Amino acid sequence: MSPPDPDLLSLNTATICKQWSLAQAIAGCARHGIRGIAPWRDQLHEMGVEPAAHAIRGHGLTVTGLCRGGMFPAADAAGRRAAIEDNLRAVDEAQALGARCLVLVAGGLPGGSKDIAGAREQVRDGIAAILPHSRQAGVPLAIEPLHPMYAADRACINTLGQALDLCDALDPRIEGGLGVAVDVYHVWWDPQLERQIERAGRARLIAFHICDWLVPTRDLLNDRGMMGDGVIDLPRIRSWMQHAGYAGFHEVEIFSELDWWRRDPDQVLETCKQRHQRFC
Ligand code: ZN
Repeated sequence: MSPPDPDLLSLNTATICKQWSLAQAIAGCARHGIRGIAPWRDQLHEMGVEPAAHAIRGHGLTVTGLCRGGMFPAADAAGRRAAIEDNLRAVDEAQALGARCLVLVAGGLPGGSKDIAGAREQVRDGIAAILPHSRQAGVPLAIEPLHPMYAADRACINTLGQALDLCDALDPRIEGGLGVAVDVYHVWWDPQLERQIERAGRARLIAFHICDWLVPTRDLLNDRGMMGDGVIDLPRIRSWMQHAGYAGFHEVEIFSELDWWRRDPDQVLETCKQRHQRFC
């Protein structure tokens, strides 16, 4: 397989969030010739949505996704309502940035609950509640299934097949504006992965997040590896994505307390570019 188009590389700013503000990350991407960027809302709020949108446009960057919406389940109706309202605001922010999607991390179990089926229903209802607004805003919603180790506290949507079932339930005629974010860190192990990527097809494949799975993994959240340092067959997964019709960006998203968050961010970006060419 030939190396990927370098213009398809995107930086999820989580990768350098301990070293750089969003303004610095935007300037850094421009300086390093990285054409895509995916900000997080906390840093976006610090910078301000309008100044960020202006800076991103000024450098001609593509916002490959806004991280993140979701977190729908709550212990009571007021909590669920607050989550929906926050998601509606996130849609507006994504629209202001011209983002290609709002990434949805479903949310886990409400405190004290053991009802994962109920949590999944709340996720379905939450997405249904925001879908009309996101469609009107022209902001696709990308459901990101998370590895099952996060089912309790972050996301009770854990496989690509499950995320696509949700898409089919909420958008049975594929009217658009609803799909999935395929993050290799969360789904690489799934024996159904190739089949589910094919099932998703061009209409539902909205985002593609890359990094690597380290052996051993020292921290369940913040020990993701740089492409090439772990066991994920990235070229194979990229080939499945392309074969299914995905032609979008490859977004590097690395949470790394022990390694990449401690390095010079300019060096991190250079490494992302090199590893994208060599290992993806
Ligand atoms: Zn991701």
